[in-house]
Amino acid sequence: MSKLSIEDLSIFAKKKGFVFPSTEIYGGMSGFFEYGPLGVELKNSLKQHWWKTFVQDRDDICGIDGSIISSGKVWEASGHLSSFADLLTECSKCKKNHRADHLIEDKLKINVEGLGADALNKIIRDNKLECPECKGSLKEIASFNLMFPVQVGADATKDSTAYLRGETAQLIFTAFKSVVDSSRVKLPFGIAQIGKAFRNEISPRDFLFRTREFEQMEIEYFIRPKEKKCPLLSKRQLDLEVLFYSESAQKSKKEQKKVKISQLVKNKVMGEWHAYWLAESYLWYTELGMQEKNLRIREHTSEELSHYSSGTFDIDYNFPFGWKEIHGNANRGQFDLTQHQKFSGKPMDIFDEETKEKMIPWVVEPSFGADRAFLAFLYDAYHEDKERGNIVLKLHPKLAPFKVAVFPLVNKIEEQALQVYLLLKKDFISMFDRSGSVGRRYARADEIGIPYCVTVDFDTEKDKSVTIRDRDTTKQIRVKITELKDVLRKLLDGEKFESCGKVLSQK
Ligand code: AMP
Repeated sequence: MSKLSIEDLSIFAKKKGFVFPSTEIYGGMSGFFEYGPLGVELKNSLKQHWWKTFVQDRDDICGIDGSIISSGKVWEASGHLSSFADLLTECSKCKKNHRADHLIEDKLKINVEGLGADALNKIIRDNKLECPECKGSLKEIASFNLMFPVQVGADATKDSTAYLRGETAQLIFTAFKSVVDSSRVKLPFGIAQIGKAFRNEISPRDFLFRTREFEQMEIEYFIRPKEKKCPLLSKRQLDLEVLFYSESAQKSKKEQKKVKISQLVKNKVMGEWHAYWLAESYLWYTELGMQEKNLRIREHTSEELSHYSSGTFDIDYNFPFGWKEIHGNANRGQFDLTQHQKFSGKPMDIFDEETKEKMIPWVVEPSFGADRAFLAFLYDAYHEDKERGNIVLKLHPKLAPFKVAVFPLVNKIEEQALQVYLLLKKDFISMFDRSGSVGRRYARADEIGIPYCVTVDFDTEKDKSVTIRDRDTTKQIRVKITELKDVLRKLLDGEKFESCGKVLSQK
């Protein structure tokens, strides 16, 4: 079966109210999107689940919500103003700018990740590459900074130039001392944040994958610099088997391989803390139903490491436009806190009660993109069901925008069905649908991923029960109305469908 293209997914997302191009009535703006009525529910569920998993359910991580605009000093210290740039080449004829690595990859189908301006210039020259728009000749590559400057206040001075944050992480580092002084955190501990980040991408593309405004869900996890052992690393993470694409396999053009996390630790491919956070992050996706065959872990090559990182592993998703990063796990070491100490003049070291030493902690950073997770979950869930003749969006019930739909079998019993709907609506995001045949209603519910449909029928008055239909299997169970809420709660918590009521024979 040919893969669903990203354009088709974006058309589907727009039609069903998941995602629209931003400000479309004015022609839209490349790299910006709006989440529609279903999209905002799905995205909120995804973020809430992340926050619960990594902040509320744990004792070692607390959260912050930092400001979006901050002074240039922050971004000077972090290295973003000098190093956070992409390489572009301008067409000498039509003047359009192209991201040089994308242009080469699209044309020659080779991976040039991490190559510098000289190497890219040579590839463009050797292969006589031209502007894809007008076939004009391409100029020498220049560096383009991705930070968005903003003017704060009425008086424009050099010092009043601030920036939209290029990543949420820096606001965690600048708040680090305030969190330590106000909370009872003890090493090792993490600070988490969900929020918008902005990058003036040269060529936004692939729908939500590369945008100029996006949301990150990041944890900066602080550990003792000398502590190599991770007491949190358990059998569950060590036994996890993943598709792994090592730096050496990439360089020698070999295949990615299945490996256990324990092997990566044993062979010193990554440290224990890194392994722990990669496994925890990977499990977050798979526990929400992402198919493992579409996930891999890729080691960054030394050439492509960010200015702050001494080791990065991505979690990639197999999109129709190739395996691409949805998550980055970087070893930021002491880089950021040391830089902020230097630039702000404020000490960033903290006293460790266990070793009785003052230290600047070491940082491991699991960084999730909320929009890329959204895109991958949506893509992963999309199924064309030939037998049913409709699309089935197999979203995990925890992510589904609507948890339940209620239908009257015929409109004569609409009143009774409305009562059931009102009963459920307070506890679950529910939908009431009375239009068209029941078959059409099931199809509509399948297409927007509603995991459970409740039908009120002629027997409901007599047996005070309703039928629940499971989206993925179309199996049906009969359940008492008095037990309906409990049953739905159990189902949403992952209980087996057939064990939640009397199974009905399928026609
Ligand atoms: P980075 O700071 O570049 O490692 O990015 C961390 C995460 O943010 C990535 O894994 C993505 O999920 C997300 N991300 C980065 N850049 C973009 C972008 N232009 N559009 C959407 N998501 C992005």
